[in-house]
Amino acid sequence: MAPSFDRHRRLRGHAGLRDMVRESHVRVTDFIYPLFVTHEQGRHPVLSMPGVDHLSLDELRRETHTLSELGIPAMMIFGIPAVKDERSSEAYAKEGIVQQAVRVVKAENPHMLVSTDVCLCQYNPAGHCGIVRGDQIVNDESLELIAATALSHVQAGADMVAPSDMMDGRIAAIRSVLDGAGYVQTPILSYAVKYASAFYGPFREAAHSAPAFGDRRTYQMDPANVREALREARSDVSEGADLLMVKPALAYMDVIRAIREEFDLPLAAYNVSGEYAMVKAAAERGWIDERAIVMELLTGLKRAGADVLITYFAKDAARYLRESV
Ligand SMILES: [Zn+2]
Repeated sequence: MAPSFDRHRRLRGHAGLRDMVRESHVRVTDFIYPLFVTHEQGRHPVLSMPGVDHLSLDELRRETHTLSELGIPAMMIFGIPAVKDERSSEAYAKEGIVQQAVRVVKAENPHMLVSTDVCLCQYNPAGHCGIVRGDQIVNDESLELIAATALSHVQAGADMVAPSDMMDGRIAAIRSVLDGAGYVQTPILSYAVKYASAFYGPFREAAHSAPAFGDRRTYQMDPANVREALREARSDVSEGADLLMVKPALAYMDVIRAIREEFDLPLAAYNVSGEYAMVKAAAERGWIDERAIVMELLTGLKRAGADVLITYFAKDAARYLRESV
């Protein structure tokens, strides 16, 4: 009697065959590595994110070299300004920290794909992503400053801008300002779907951007919502976004899948600081196999539908990928 069941294990018996039939792949070219640049000298560890440092401009130059050696093609620059003011002036100053950082990276490696985080929260004392009036974060007035910030990054040499503020209409505002200045070819990577998440905790230490009052729930999304994510993405697509992002990643794989199925733009997943810190903390205690966990998580994001992985694990994963060849 022939057995009346399927032999799924036939495809798992040989390592070469397993590699051949694998459906999702993490590649070093998927990575955007986020980094934090300051006016201070040297390299200062972010305590809750082992392996991640605040970088001076000199250290940024070294880091660019390291990333290039590892084959990591892209970075996302976050700035920590020397001064904060109500108008978030350093966000769009010609000699602001991000603008200087872009020039340093481009001088070190002109081929590095330099994207910049575009937001105001690091740059004003309230620590909110838009302009504050009383206890309100006002939308429309913020757009002008956000667009000015994006333009100043591009004028400094950035290849791509990534607005993370979650103000309505910012993609249209940025597109219009960039086009008006002749930067019609510069793509916008939109943080289209950004949740008000507890997973950002370590980042706020890293970016010195914790809100001074209230929280970000009047502009970032409720973690319970996925239909709203489709509405957010639809708006950004119609306003001119070139790539979409879902942030955070690991608790939102269904959202990544939903956006993947509904839209045909390239999709990035931001594997955020809290997700990184949890893995590092457990690995330090010897509770998990860090390398295996990191690759499983990143593969999961690709399987869920992400094309681009924005991750603090990029350097580690690039080494793992190199060693596994
Ligand atoms: Zn912000």
